[in-house]
Amino acid sequence: MSVDRDDRDLEAELASAGAGRVGIPVDAICVGCGRIHVKRAEPGELCQHPQVDPITLESSDLTSFKHICHLCQHATWWNPVAVLSGLLERERGE
Ligand SMILES: [Zn+2]
Repeated sequence: MSVDRDDRDLEAELASAGAGRVGIPVDAICVGCGRIHVKRAEPGELCQHPQVDPITLESSDLTSFKHICHLCQHATWWNPVAVLSGLLERERGE
């Protein structure tokens, strides 16, 4: 999977404060405003086993999770649309 999607820089989004610091990198859509942003979510937030290998996950396996949305300006529900396995692999390689 390419790291670049459309004209977005997923790596920069993941590094931004809005993505969070721990968890699995996923591309997710805010149910409040429809904005798509890279977020990190803990396996537990996605109804996954804490020791799950995120590389094996499909976005359809994941449940919605709560995360702050800076457009909505409060915590909202986010629906995972993709597990960013490319970014995961890059993180592991470092
Ligand atoms: Zn929002």
